[in-house]
Amino acid sequence: MIPAQFEYEMAGSVQEAIDLLGSREDAKLLAGGHSLIPAMKLRIARPGTLVDIGRIGELSYIREDGDAIAIGSLTRHHDVATSDVLRDRCGIMSFAAGEIGDPQVRHRGTIGGSVAHGDPASDMPGVLLTLDAEFVVVGPGGERRIPAADFFTGVFETALGEQDVLTEIRVKPLSGGWAYLKFARRKQDWATVGVAAVVSNGGANVGLVSMGGTPLRAKAVEEALAGGADPATAAEKADDGTEPSSDVAGSADYRRHLARVLTRRALEEALGG
Ligand code: FAD
Repeated sequence: MIPAQFEYEMAGSVQEAIDLLGSREDAKLLAGGHSLIPAMKLRIARPGTLVDIGRIGELSYIREDGDAIAIGSLTRHHDVATSDVLRDRCGIMSFAAGEIGDPQVRHRGTIGGSVAHGDPASDMPGVLLTLDAEFVVVGPGGERRIPAADFFTGVFETALGEQDVLTEIRVKPLSGGWAYLKFARRKQDWATVGVAAVVSNGGANVGLVSMGGTPLRAKAVEEALAGGADPATAAEKADDGTEPSSDVAGSADYRRHLARVLTRRALEEALGG
């Protein structure tokens, strides 16, 4: 289908984008356009104005910054997938980015767009929740940082306000093993279920994709591991507290089964078993 009529503005800076969002009715940011444009074509989204931030070059970077790795929100999935810094220091991010869609999607889509879109079936939000990432947001009131645990509030809903621009994603380098397992019907599809696991001295963080209205942490698994359970026993709790949906990719029961199996495998891989 063809999108409903809209106005188009190109922002040259984050401040200009914030001002445009505030001065136009029903304005929305456009980054890589690989979630928003399909939604507009289906007329699920009907923004009055698109504020294009795709050419703000200073929002595209990956660098070490103090004890964190900072990733600009306009960094393309391809650049995350091929970053030496991330491969060396936070391999789960580059691996998961390489699992997103196909090369065209990875060359256009941005990490910030993926986070801001809040799709519970997207790979990167689940991985970033598992990593306890922090999101840097700039709005009319200035800059603030939002922990991933507080960011995803519902299906396609986040803590972002109408005039907010997500500018940076911050993660801590990994100190132990990791795994991201994505089960999809076809290679380029969204996850029917995805499981992320990262191991540290104190235990393991486990995150779930497509197991509810937001990306989730498998808290019962994490607690079982911290209490001394072996990975196979802990993984049996992977679907505790989840509310997966049934759709063409799989029934809710099938997703629960996948979550348990993928969690066991992800933990074994992350623990080097
Ligand atoms: P856009 O589409 O430009 O924007 C998405 C939303 O985020 C909009 O509401 C926009 O206003 C908002 N937004 C964008 N940037 C910002 C910002 N900096 N601050 C605040 N708000 C912002 N994703 C997966 O995870 N896994 C997949 O397997 C997968 N497969 C795909 C297959 C196809 C065929 C397509 C078309 C997409 C697929 N995607 C997949 C989605 C893809 O990863 C998108 O690129 C991503 O979800 C959105 O990024 P974007 O830059 O294109 O955002």
